Amino acid sequence: MKKIAIIGDIHPDGHNLLLNNNCEILDLTNSSKEELTEKIKNVDAIAIRTGKLGKDVLKDCNDLKIISRHGVGYDNIDLDFLNNNKIALSITGTANAVSVSEHVMTMFLYLCKLIEKSNKLVREGNFIKKKTIPNFFELYQKNILILGFGRIGKSLAKKCLGFDSNVYVYDPYIDKSIIKNANCKDIDFIDGLKIADFVSIHMPLNDKTKNIISKNEFLVMKKSSIIVNTARGGIINERDLFWALNNKEIYGAGIDVYEKEPPDINNDLFKLDNIIFSPHNAALTLECRKRMAIESCENILYFLDKDKKLNINNIVNKKNI
Ligand code: NAD
Repeated sequence: MKKIAIIGDIHPDGHNLLLNNNCEILDLTNSSKEELTEKIKNVDAIAIRTGKLGKDVLKDCNDLKIISRHGVGYDNIDLDFLNNNKIALSITGTANAVSVSEHVMTMFLYLCKLIEKSNKLVREGNFIKKKTIPNFFELYQKNILILGFGRIGKSLAKKCLGFDSNVYVYDPYIDKSIIKNANCKDIDFIDGLKIADFVSIHMPLNDKTKNIISKNEFLVMKKSSIIVNTARGGIINERDLFWALNNKEIYGAGIDVYEKEPPDINNDLFKLDNIIFSPHNAALTLECRKRMAIESCENILYFLDKDKKLNINNIVNKKNI
């Protein structure tokens, strides 16, 4: 019988899949670090949401063959340790893109149509004062700049094309034909920022992308532009974002991810009314939580059973194990 540790609250469909495949589940969601270190010593696999798994906790896991992330980011896992010990790391590569790209569309539309102002006006009995709402806008024929054209960037492009927008892509790491075949236009970073009406970020956070959108970038953007970040906090410099929004250098922003999570309650951005927020939940629709639970548990089962149904693209470190 396979022994699987689950760390984090995952949809019951994932648990059921493991139980139906003759696995023993150890739910370690609320365990202390010491308890976790002790209890995972003999597990074959770990399914994990956002908790941290470093060398200190993993060092005695002699039977561990795979850690399965519920999601696509894996900055919470010590990948070097896994590579050195030939332990696989998997992600739920096919589960999130739709949910996150829908979240971006929601933020784009909410901001450009001034939904909050309209909602408030009607609720306060001011229906007939609709002319007091400032100009609001469409996505139709606007320039959308997508930064990073992986799973989520591609999914967003399809939705924007459905609104008859012009979709531009900056992603120096992919073949340009991928952009062309998706009916989008390849563009340089700064040229893209100059012409964009809407910008959406879908790249990883790393040394190259940290603060990639800072004061200089806001200065080249249109004053009418809207930027949304559902990728990782720190890609946009938050202090400079406050400056840009406060000085009307850009029109609006939508933020799902923060430099520090959770953000401090006295974060300056909360003082502004041309920005909207969500609590890093772009991928947490019910449907997406079910897909992630099932895909993360399938990754475990298929990997352990050497089943050809395993989606090899989900194994992050396939070259190192
Ligand atoms: P992906 O790996 O499929 O795509 C990332 C793309 O970014 C790749 O095509 C890569 O070539 C490109 N890229 C890398 N460095 C770049 C750079 N310097 N400039 C331009 N492009 C660059 O990833 P994905 O699944 O599309 O996820 C994108 C981001 O969204 C990640 O940061 C991920 O952690 C985040 N994410 C957030 C949530 C959420 O809940 N908010 C959910 C899922 C994913």
